[in-house]
Amino acid sequence: MIELKHINKIYNGFNALNDISLTIKDGEICGIIGQSGAGKSTLVRCINMLEPPTSGDVIVNGRNMVTLSKRELREERKKIGMIFQHFNLLSSRTVYENVAFPLELSNVPQGEQKERINDILELVGLADYRNKYPAQLSGGQKQRVSLAGVMVDQVKILLFDEPLANLDPATGKQTIELIDEIQKETDTTVVIIEHRLEDVLWRDVDRIILVSEGRILADLHPDELLATDLLADNGIRE
Ligand code: ADP
Repeated sequence: MIELKHINKIYNGFNALNDISLTIKDGEICGIIGQSGAGKSTLVRCINMLEPPTSGDVIVNGRNMVTLSKRELREERKKIGMIFQHFNLLSSRTVYENVAFPLELSNVPQGEQKERINDILELVGLADYRNKYPAQLSGGQKQRVSLAGVMVDQVKILLFDEPLANLDPATGKQTIELIDEIQKETDTTVVIIEHRLEDVLWRDVDRIILVSEGRILADLHPDELLATDLLADNGIRE
């Protein structure tokens, strides 16, 4: 479970987040929408402490991240994966070697590496592409490799920061399908920042959180949100 309690984030006197409180249950898929500059990235980065809040508590898996020592925080952060719109792949490494990279860094034994990488490549549908290089892949396939590279660390929470931004509409839908399938298969908790609401809603997400000027304006099931004028009022295309 992720619990944010009275989070504030101030950058040089500017309040990017104002008293945000939010609970996300284990296994939920949660979309975060809002205009550019609303505070979506800052909010999600508080969950993994990439941006520690100026005040407030961040409780993840029962531990208050703001009170942990550096070493404890490092351990807790290993359970949280983050995927960005840029694929962050190493061009000189194959698909397999890219996925192996985080395991090499944490000295996971070779045999276990092989097993975990093979399982994850199967899960993201890239088993046949293991020996290809990033330049030989489509945008959607590169996104799958970066997802595999995060999943291979056996994370419990997946945070996505505009994962569809560099993908065409059809690939965007496939990516949302994949995220949904992975969630069901692994029971991870998923938080997705995405302005392409129509693609996110291709699959049934549990909640949509609408952020504006550092505050939560709505936290509703998509059907409830679509029944309001909140999207139009906040410049978001349905
Ligand atoms: P969103 O993800 O909704 O586009 P962000 O969380 O990136 O919004 O940013 C929210 C606000 O905080 C914006 O006004 C942005 O300019 C400001 N901001 C974000 N990161 C920083 C930073 N590192 N330093 C100063 N201001 C920042």
